[in-house]
Amino acid sequence: MIHSLNFRLLAAFALVIIVIIGSVFFFTYHTTRGEISRFGERVELMQDKRMELELSRYHQVLRSWEGVQPFVVQWGKLYGRRIILTDNEGTVVADSDETLLGSPYTEAEPGQPMSPMMGTGTIGVLRISHGESPDINRAALQITYRTIGHFFLWAGLLAVGIALLLTFILSRRILAPVKALSSAAREFGKGNFSRRVDSKGKGEVGELARSFNSMADNLEHTERLRRDMVADVAHELRTPLSNLRGYLEAIKDAVIKPDEATIHSLNEEASTLSRLIDDLQELSLADAGELKLIIQPEDVSRLIKETVTALQAKAAAKGLTISADLPDGLPEVNIDSHRIRQVLHNLLENAVAHTGQGGRITVTARHRDDKVYISVADTGEGIPADDLPMVFERFYRVDKSRARATGGSGLGLTIARRLVEAHGGTIDVESQPGQGSTFTFTLPIQT
Ligand code: ADP
Repeated sequence: MIHSLNFRLLAAFALVIIVIIGSVFFFTYHTTRGEISRFGERVELMQDKRMELELSRYHQVLRSWEGVQPFVVQWGKLYGRRIILTDNEGTVVADSDETLLGSPYTEAEPGQPMSPMMGTGTIGVLRISHGESPDINRAALQITYRTIGHFFLWAGLLAVGIALLLTFILSRRILAPVKALSSAAREFGKGNFSRRVDSKGKGEVGELARSFNSMADNLEHTERLRRDMVADVAHELRTPLSNLRGYLEAIKDAVIKPDEATIHSLNEEASTLSRLIDDLQELSLADAGELKLIIQPEDVSRLIKETVTALQAKAAAKGLTISADLPDGLPEVNIDSHRIRQVLHNLLENAVAHTGQGGRITVTARHRDDKVYISVADTGEGIPADDLPMVFERFYRVDKSRARATGGSGLGLTIARRLVEAHGGTIDVESQPGQGSTFTFTLPIQT
């Protein structure tokens, strides 16, 4: 509960509101208090002046201070002051507290000498003392404190209430997609890769939903590839294995003899299996992007000539000719020569395998822009147009039974494409059934 986003949002909102209301109250109270004090002081000053004026008028009329005491007592009560009036001889003629009346004034308070309304001289000295905090101020402050305090308390409570309600409604709306995401993620964890979330939302949550969906697409794709791969591999392993078992059972049942020819066949099947496993390992490394390439500047003409020479005998045995058409001054290429030799070897082996007696195989290299284009062309059986886009697919064979008989794993072209792409190049094929095929790949030149 305490860790839920809902509760945290609520708490954060309430805290922000309390802090805002508290600080606004603090500043308002302090400013108002200052203003009220200044106002109180002005009012008191006016009251003092007024008393002074009234007393002067009294003296003007009566020409003496006689009978002034009751007025001073009243003013003292009314304004909450201690008022002491002395005549010119220093005798207290009026005292709001009545204690000093009639006695000479001996305190240190200098007081305000009073002048008559008309004429010059003084008619006495007036001393007015205020308490520590004047009544008017204290009263006004108390009222202000109470009113402002109440206002802020109720406003604060109301604001917190509204905020909590709004947070509750808003957080439900904000958190709905997050909840949908976490439920989808849970489903995903259980292996239901088809789950997607609504990704139409804007902002960060929408962005998160889109990232989730694209991650889900990738995972689903990878998972499908993995399943297909396992099915394909199982299928590919089954044939050589059942051949092996067939031979072995036949030997066990004494149907065939374990002579040299049989052992040779057994060995062939075992070789097919181990080739398949090697190719699979290489392909899985390439798929995982873990092929370690040792890239160096290489003389591509030499590499082509050496590979052609390596296959010369095999081609001759089938009555084929292999030749290389290499222009002078080909630039060096940036490649892992072992891997590119493997690609070329594979293309040449395929050409030899799929070209009939008397056929020709030609390797051509051309320099254009920042690439070298290498083509392997044969005059063999060619590839039907429907199969052409698929020949680079894993385990794809145009003529299933025959291709297997030649020992091909169906992975040669797939691996060739991965290797060329790992060098930043491309590989394509053109073919006319009955006339031949041309495989072309590119290599980056040394700059
Ligand atoms: P394989 O190990 O069967 O040769 P590849 O991936 O090398 O597998 O080739 C895939 C398929 O493409 C082959 O089975 C074959 O049918 C076809 N193919 C490849 N090269 C040629 C070629 N030069 N001429 C005709 N068909 C070819």
